[in-house]
Amino acid sequence: VRYLVVSDIHGNRIALDAVLSAAEGQWDRLLCLGDIVGYGPEPNECVEVIAKLAHACVLGNHDLVSAGGEGLSQFNDLARIAAEWTFCELTEDNRYYLQSLPQVVEQGDITLVHGSPRSPVWEYLQEMHQLPDSFARVSTGLTLVGHTHLPRAFSFDPTQLVYSVGSGKWRTSIQLKGNLRWILNPGSVGQPRDGDPRAAFGLLDIDTGTFQFERAAYDIASTQASMRSLGFPLPLAERLTFGR
Ligand code: ZN
Repeated sequence: VRYLVVSDIHGNRIALDAVLSAAEGQWDRLLCLGDIVGYGPEPNECVEVIAKLAHACVLGNHDLVSAGGEGLSQFNDLARIAAEWTFCELTEDNRYYLQSLPQVVEQGDITLVHGSPRSPVWEYLQEMHQLPDSFARVSTGLTLVGHTHLPRAFSFDPTQLVYSVGSGKWRTSIQLKGNLRWILNPGSVGQPRDGDPRAAFGLLDIDTGTFQFERAAYDIASTQASMRSLGFPLPLAERLTFGR
């Protein structure tokens, strides 16, 4: 099975479409790691695409808050403004879809969470010291996470008790077969933060045992134009230019 792995779409439908075209013909099932909405101008369209295409999808913190759940107080001003706008914008069906998303999905030898195994919706998994707890809480060989918007490859070698953190640079390919266990973050489709403004995604091939970090260029100016015309805070639009 070949999976297209997407995360943190954040209402950026143009970026999502670019990923779908770039990955066309290279996947059988789509896995989504949450934060379909928040920050971006087309939350309903993104939810509808994911609801239609996703084989599995987990709940992100922005999905939770934007659908009326708890956590607004944990957001900074920009995230809060975006979440309040998104809450009003979402159709009832789409709000219900987000509310119904599970926090954790286990699918064969893969675990999906938005944040981390300890705190599936909220924890940012990015530091070495978080790895022992994170690997201990999952039994699958591979865990897929999002939330930080940073493409990363975390590994654990249970025979040597060695942990490692690697950045998921464009076209880096991870070999999953062997002794290591992995936690992989494909990066963000709709709001990359690693300095590469292109939409990030992952291609996971179970048969060959590989995960490839991928990027797709998209029409950033066009997403920014809709954000401006909707009166979104300017920094939210501007950051897309830099991928920060
Ligand atoms: Zn996010």
